[in-house]
Amino acid sequence: MASSFDLHHERLATTNASGGRIKLYPADVKGPYRTGRTLVSYGLIVFFLALPWLKVNGAPLLLLDIVHRHFSILGLQFRGDDAPILFFVLGLFILTIALTTSRWGRIWCGWACPQTVFIDGFYRRIDRWIEGSAHSQKLLDQSPWTAKKWVKKGLKTVLYCIASMVITHSFLAVLVGGPQLWQMMQISPFHNPGPALLMLGSTAFILVEFGIFREQFCIIACPYGRLQSVLQDDHSTVVLYDEKRGESRKKDRNDTTHSGDCINCYRCVQVCPTGVDIRRGLQMECIQCTACIDACDTVMTKIGKRKGLIRYDSMSGMSGKKGVRHIRSILYTVVLLLFAAGLTLTLRYRQPLRVEVLRGTTPFQIGNDHIVTNHFRIHVYNRTGQNVPVTVKLLPHVDHLTWVIPNLPTVLSGEQAIVDIFVRFPQKPMPKIVAEVSAQSDGTLIRSKSDPFELVAPDTDSGHPRGDNSTSHD
Ligand code: SF4
Ligand code: SF4
Repeated sequence: MASSFDLHHERLATTNASGGRIKLYPADVKGPYRTGRTLVSYGLIVFFLALPWLKVNGAPLLLLDIVHRHFSILGLQFRGDDAPILFFVLGLFILTIALTTSRWGRIWCGWACPQTVFIDGFYRRIDRWIEGSAHSQKLLDQSPWTAKKWVKKGLKTVLYCIASMVITHSFLAVLVGGPQLWQMMQISPFHNPGPALLMLGSTAFILVEFGIFREQFCIIACPYGRLQSVLQDDHSTVVLYDEKRGESRKKDRNDTTHSGDCINCYRCVQVCPTGVDIRRGLQMECIQCTACIDACDTVMTKIGKRKGLIRYDSMSGMSGKKGVRHIRSILYTVVLLLFAAGLTLTLRYRQPLRVEVLRGTTPFQIGNDHIVTNHFRIHVYNRTGQNVPVTVKLLPHVDHLTWVIPNLPTVLSGEQAIVDIFVRFPQKPMPKIVAEVSAQSDGTLIRSKSDPFELVAPDTDSGHPRGDNSTSHD
């Protein structure tokens, strides 16, 4: 059956003979998968918009403050130099993607990717609301520019812009914190030109990406889409067409000789957001959105055949192989558990207050009373999840060693504070000392120590400084 949906065998469904883009108008589809994906996308949109405002034990659920190298994930506070935690967190993220892809293919793309969720949740809804069905949208695009068309396109663009700004503001709130973004919004953007420009640039990007570029990103730009062929194997559960059952398909309207269940209605192609004909087998452009499953099941029900001509299955399952082994998934799971254990241990044994001692710019000063003064700067990083006032003392106790601390700050949660300390001691050999910082958090006394460091005094013989000038840290 010749059809306008027949796809060229040697080029993408969205590309014409000269390499230009063919705009897709995916038709609406109803069915259990569509309902499930709609519910999931509503939940994800609400979660995304609420994310910058959610807290765990007083700390943000997710904060990625790249400028200040301050991160909060599930309430855990860490900075850009917390290398072991970053290593384990990034490793867990990558392994989770690898595991889900090896087990369920591009399930992320079809069900949870922001691209899919926001295009379906906002932009396609705006298309339907303003321009009508997929067929009406196509007719409107092909019609001359009348006043009615200008109004529809203008209104659609305004709504696209509003949706893009909502998404961008929520995204920016994850980078700077929800309350901080709200404060920025109360004042002129000229007071915060950096975030304001980032917001404008991101809004323009989202507008073009979700409003215009759409499936092209999944097909030609998404790095995850390129990786899937490496991560999947014949045992991965993906959306597949049952060729054995479907073929031979109906050739034309009057064909009564076909033995397969596929009536060649092209409904599965009409609903596909990337223009794929799933009957040609698993393809890289398929984002596993399940629209073709619902479409074909509806057709099968109408013609009195059983559902599942297109369904979730694996290549080995389709070919009738028994005893499927998910070796790859098992290996990913083992490594993932090792990373999870590594992260747990790292968090379990890290100090809630990180203490780092750096020398002041002048190594030492000596007074008329021959008392030497050293200036140190104690950097205290608060990982407790609460704002805590800190106290500092030096250990071990040494007679005649005293210190002066002009400021004892309250260290904000996830932030770093600097405590200046002036150490005074007589001009004679002193042992290495450590700085001990303590604070009360949730009624519990927390103590953290720096690495040992040396005091610096003039060498009584040469007059040169005596002592180690290197910095020390925890
Ligand atoms: S929707 Fe089903 S019956 Fe129709 S063309 Fe696709 S696979 Fe064949
Ligand atoms: S082939 Fe089916 S599952 Fe894949 S993108 Fe198209 S409609 Fe979605």
